[in-house]
Amino acid sequence: MKEPRISTKSIWAGESDYLAFGATQVPVVHSVSFGYKDMDEWYDVATGKKEGHIYGRNTNPTVQAFEDKIRILEGAEAATSFSTGMAAISNTLGTFLFPGDRIVTIKDTYGGTNKIFTEFLPKQQIEVVLCETGNHEEIEKEVAKGCQVLYLETPTNPTVKITDIERMAKAGKAAGALVIIDNTFATPVNQNPLELGVDLVIHSATKFLGGHADALGGALCGPAELVEKVFHYREINGATLDPMAAYLLLRGMKTLKLRIDKQNENAMKIASFLKSLEMVDSVFYPGLAEHPGHEIAKKQMRGYGGMLSFSVKGGIETVRHLLPKLKYANRAANLGAVETIVGPARTTSHVECTPEERAAVGIAEGLIRYSAGIEDVEDLKEDLKQAFASLPESVSVKG
Ligand SMILES: *Cc1c(COP(=O)(O)O)cnc(C)c1O
Repeated sequence: MKEPRISTKSIWAGESDYLAFGATQVPVVHSVSFGYKDMDEWYDVATGKKEGHIYGRNTNPTVQAFEDKIRILEGAEAATSFSTGMAAISNTLGTFLFPGDRIVTIKDTYGGTNKIFTEFLPKQQIEVVLCETGNHEEIEKEVAKGCQVLYLETPTNPTVKITDIERMAKAGKAAGALVIIDNTFATPVNQNPLELGVDLVIHSATKFLGGHADALGGALCGPAELVEKVFHYREINGATLDPMAAYLLLRGMKTLKLRIDKQNENAMKIASFLKSLEMVDSVFYPGLAEHPGHEIAKKQMRGYGGMLSFSVKGGIETVRHLLPKLKYANRAANLGAVETIVGPARTTSHVECTPEERAAVGIAEGLIRYSAGIEDVEDLKEDLKQAFASLPESVSVKG
């Protein structure tokens, strides 16, 4: 038979090895430890000579089923998991970076990731080079000077900037650097960075993978040789994914393809609709032909994703009046759920930054991040329309 397609994989991958008692669904194994009557068998499992589980901080069957599913969806040889997306990022960087090392990355990484680069790594004598997102020449120049890690994210948060993955992977390889990418925004439905030459793919499973805003988790996919090193760092340092969260993420991932297809479609329609509104200054979405990363996105993505952002006339005053009026949107810091979620970038992705830091990466105080849900898009459009129509005279522009 042919290799199954992505919807089939997201439903069936990583399930059958973990079923017991004829159950058709992966059980949530809440046991912290796993017992053995036979002392030799226990020793063999504990020393890795035989498959099995010893202690929940190291491995757990429900957690392994989640790892299998994301590994197969990303087309990776191996995968491991973490308590959160940030744990995936910090544990991966902690495994591969040491005092005296140099890492090249972009200015527009996720807010928490950016804090690792600006606050924590420099304290460990690790040199961090923050390049202009989308400036491929600058990144290539910095990578060629020598670095241990090239760290990427595309599309980025919140202005959905695009970086050419294949081109950057080549640059990293040529310099002998490990190329790591955060694929949270695209998901494996829209983009498989391993196929484009990167070494390791990171996910905040909290977002689109789980898709229901009810579980935190993170994942790392790549060659076994690299993933095992990070797994070892994680099992000792303890940022383990909880079995209940693993179960919720597994259940969410069964509908990944359906949800992402709908979110791609809704985001595209919302982006086009917003462009037609008087009160909207600019709309950022890689699916729009005028987006600076559109051509690269077209080349490396199968869909443009569920995330977009837009800035409104009148700045934060307009945001203050507009967002409370929306009926079908959670005003929250999350993204990637079945419900539409909105929030100003200054209170969500970049809350840790100062207004000056935000301005430096082109984030206006009136920028709104919009995570398209799977609602009927006509309802979302009407909702935006009524919210804009109800703006008071003081902030609205006429004509
Ligand atoms: C949310 C997010 C993270 C962090 O994930 P958590 O699960 O919240 O720790 C990392 N990268 C991106 C792109 C994100 O959106």
